[in-house]
Order: sequence, then structure tokens, then C-alpha cells
Amino acid sequence: MLDTLLPKSVSRPVVEAVQDFDPAAVNIPSGHYISGRLVPGDGPAIEVRRPSDGQAYADLPEAGETGVDVAVCDASTAQQQSGWGECPPRERGAVLRRWADLIMENRLELAQLEALGSTRCISEAYTGEVPFTAEAIRFFAECADKYSGDVLPTRSRSLGMLMPEPYGVVGAIAPWNFPLSMASWKCGPALAAGNAIVLKPSELTPFSTVRLAELALEAGLPPGIFNVVQGSGQVTGAALVRHPLVRKVSFTGSTQTGKSVMTDAAHHGMKPVTLELGGKSPQLVFNDAGDVDTVAQRITRGFMANAGQACVAGTRLIVQRGIAEALIAAVVRHARVVVPGVTWKANSRFAPLISQRQAEKVSAAVSNTVAAGAEVLCGGSFFDGFGGGFFYQPTVLIGLQAGMTALEEEVFGPVLTVQIFDDEEEGIALASHSVYGLAAGVHTMDIGQAMRATRRIAAGTVWINRYGRTTDFIVPTGGFNGSGIGKDLGRQAFEANLRHKSVLLDF
Ligand code: NDP
Repeated sequence: MLDTLLPKSVSRPVVEAVQDFDPAAVNIPSGHYISGRLVPGDGPAIEVRRPSDGQAYADLPEAGETGVDVAVCDASTAQQQSGWGECPPRERGAVLRRWADLIMENRLELAQLEALGSTRCISEAYTGEVPFTAEAIRFFAECADKYSGDVLPTRSRSLGMLMPEPYGVVGAIAPWNFPLSMASWKCGPALAAGNAIVLKPSELTPFSTVRLAELALEAGLPPGIFNVVQGSGQVTGAALVRHPLVRKVSFTGSTQTGKSVMTDAAHHGMKPVTLELGGKSPQLVFNDAGDVDTVAQRITRGFMANAGQACVAGTRLIVQRGIAEALIAAVVRHARVVVPGVTWKANSRFAPLISQRQAEKVSAAVSNTVAAGAEVLCGGSFFDGFGGGFFYQPTVLIGLQAGMTALEEEVFGPVLTVQIFDDEEEGIALASHSVYGLAAGVHTMDIGQAMRATRRIAAGTVWINRYGRTTDFIVPTGGFNGSGIGKDLGRQAFEANLRHKSVLLDF
């Protein structure tokens, strides 16, 4: 699909273009990126490990309050003095488009950096993550001069206007599961709207976004408009949210951390927040969903992509009795054939979990659920033979009761729960979740049934007869209830990076 969107020179390559690479040979841009320069940290360092084998490969400086203050003050000065916020929006768009081109020109380097430190296998990083990042930036470049505020109906001798303006400095906090594309979803709209940005990537995947910032400068972004501060969430992330010159916060991560980000934003300047949080998304399959194997592949991709480390992972299969036996058997068959591999091998398709902590969390969720009475249809433990890397087997659980861990909590690993229902009412009731409302899949050939379910499931996104996003970035993404506030992507994400001034002029 992406091939049809991108110019020939940057279109998706044949798979042979992706090769194994030597993880020890990758150049690591370690440090903060402030005012257009890589700045070595002077605070305590955090050891960064490769998820594929657990080996430490770099030290990360941690910015405390002082380091964050330098970055935010520089960003604020740059936003006011460089002309970025005031230049013709079309010029901003042109810089962002050049940036997207440079990302594609440096695609291999970015893909290797991403694959080295994250859970993105090199083939996915090269054919998916990096082109998607460039394409998201292109989408927001197009927004720059397509939004116009409003002229309001007022008395005849007045002119009422709603004038959009950038906030100034936007603070962005990104997670580790899709480091580059999550950064582009936050930086793209903030920059296109004329803001400066200070981004804190996850301490687990800190480096690829530094290279992204270097390329932005090369594309013509003034120094200080895109800054990266490194460090842990508790120290650097919290200092960023609390800084008085950060006027808006954009966060992706767990619901738990989202709550403390929102609390901090309220107590330190009443800042608007965009929160893209966790999920426990259902895949509701009716008897008439169509070809069983096709649906099974959709379900399998939906819960196994990035080894389940995706906010929208479709981790609850809710299937109607008439198709249940055949579908469950097909899902288990597909789940059993995955071949795990270190992220720097070209033929690796199934990723490790990001860290030992995450591995313990996934493993505990499965064993607690099994101890409570659930049955394992496949998986349920780690793959052998990976030394310090944590590769968890795709796991399918059945025989679940309300309250069991794997059914209720966001596991963030390749774990699917299965529940069987008889009629539409029961299926829709099972699809609802008491906390989360991020995404849902509805699989049926009956359009009436599909739309009834879509209307009644409380989720920010519903996919009908598919599961997963496309490169149609005009479609926003964001959660209901405990899954978040506001939208990433779409025109809505761009507009959320502007505040609106009401102006009344008498003549
Ligand atoms: P977190 O929500 O803690 O981390 C997400 C980002 O927020 C990271 O950059 C983190 O920094 C930062 N952060 C952490 N605490 C604060 C804070 N007090 N103030 C500001 N920023 C903060 O997720 P984890 O990495 O701990 O993962 C735990 C669970 O969260 C996963 O098992 C999964 O369930 C969920 N998750 C959901 C994601 C999603 O896309 N919805 C993405 C990632 C995780 P740092 O990592 O450097 O500490």
C-alpha cells in the first residue's frame, strides 16, 4: 500500500534489500539533543540494553530538572526568535517534507538504530517503521497551511474571529514499542502547527529519535525547535511535564503513568494533555465472518504484531459458538509457526519482549491466569536458546472467568484470551471492558450486525473486517475511558497543537 503513496525513489524496497547487520557496528548518537547539538550529559548514566540478547550497549545520560530546564528554555527562545511559529505555514510544511525525504534517504541507518535497541525486527523497521515515520511527517506537513480558524457571526459592525496560534513549547513523552513512529505522531503535528518540541523518548529506546532530530535540523528546522532530553520517566519525564514553559503535553504509555502525567499537568500550569494510553481490545467474531483461515490470520496478526507490544493489540478473541472450534484451531496453528529471531537478522519476524521487567510481567500474567483455572491452548512459556533475550511464545488461553489477570489487564505480550458467545447481545457485552476503550475488531459479513456492534462498543477505533491501522493517517487514533484523551494522527492531532484566541473587532 505504501508503495502507491511514496515517490519511486523512496518506495518500499524488495525484501532482499534488508540484510543482517552487525549490532556492534552501529553508531550510537548518545546524549541529549539541544539547540541543534548533541550534548553529552553530566548527570548519572543509565545502562541501555539490547532486547534481543540483553547485552548492555550504551550509557544514557539522565537529564534532571536542570537539564530539562536548559532544553525547555532554549526551545522557548527558539520558538519566539527563530520565526518558526510565525513563518508562512507553507514554508513550515516545506521543511517538514524535506525532513521526511531525509528520513527516507537515511532509511537503513535509522532502521538499524531502531532494530538494535527496540523490539522492531530490521525487516519491519526498514519496510514499515521508518517509511511510516516519514509518511506521518508528510501528512502533518500538509496540515500546516490547510487549517484556518473561523470567522464568527457577530453584530453587523463587528468582526468575530477564532485565531489559531501555537502553544509555544510542547512536551512529548514517547514509549518504547514504536520509538520512531510514536515520535513522529507527536513531533509532526506540534511542529507543523509552529510549536517547538522537547521530546523524551523511553529510556529503553532512546537513540533513534536523536538521529531523527539531527535530520530535522539538516532539513532546515531552526536549532532549538526540536530537542530530545534523555532519562527515566520518573526523573526526566516528570520534570518535563512540570516545567512552567511547557504549555501542552502529549504522552503515550500506560494508563497508570498517564494518570500521573495528567495530575502533574494539572498542578503545574493547567496544561492540556493528549494521552494515548493502554488497551485490552476485543476481536468480536460472528459466525458469518467469512473464510476461517483469513479471519484467523487477522486475529493472529492482531495480537502478535511486535510480540503483542502494541497499545491496540487485539488480545481478547470473542467468538460465536458456530465458528469457534474451527477458528480457535486455525489461530493456534498460525500462532505455533512463528519463528523468533534477534532483531538484526533479516529473516527475523517475531520480536523479543523489551526488557526483563516486561518479561516478568507477561510471564506472571499468564501463570496467574492459569493458576486461577484457565487452560493453555498453545505457548505459555519462553522460547529456549536466546541467552539474555526474552522471546515469549505466542500464547492462547481459554476457560476464562471475569477477574482473571490476562482477561482484565493490559499484558503487553503475545497473549490472546478466548471467550465464546451465543448471541449478539452476549458478544457485545463481553467485548466491553470496564477500564479500557482503545480499539476493537468486528468481523461479520452482516453490515447491520457490524454497525450495531460498532455503535455499542465503547472504543476510540473500531475496525470492521480488518484489524490494524493503515497509512491513511487522516484516520485519527485515540482511546475512550481509561485508554486516553484526545487523538493522535488525523486533523484532530494537528488542531490539538494549536490554541484558539477569540478576537472581536468593532468597526
Ligand atoms: P510507562 O507508561 O511507564 O512509560 C511510557 C513513557 O512514559 C516512557 O517514556 C516513560 O519513561 C515515561 N514515564 C514514566 N513515568 C513517567 C512520569 N511519572 N512522568 C512522565 N513520564 C513518565 O510504561 P512502561 O514502559 O513502564 O511499560 C509498562 C506498561 O505500560 C506495559 O506493560 C504496557 O502495559 C504499558 N505501555 C503501553 C503503551 C502504549 O502504547 N499504550 C506503551 C508502553 C507501555 P521511561 O520508560 O524512560 O521510564
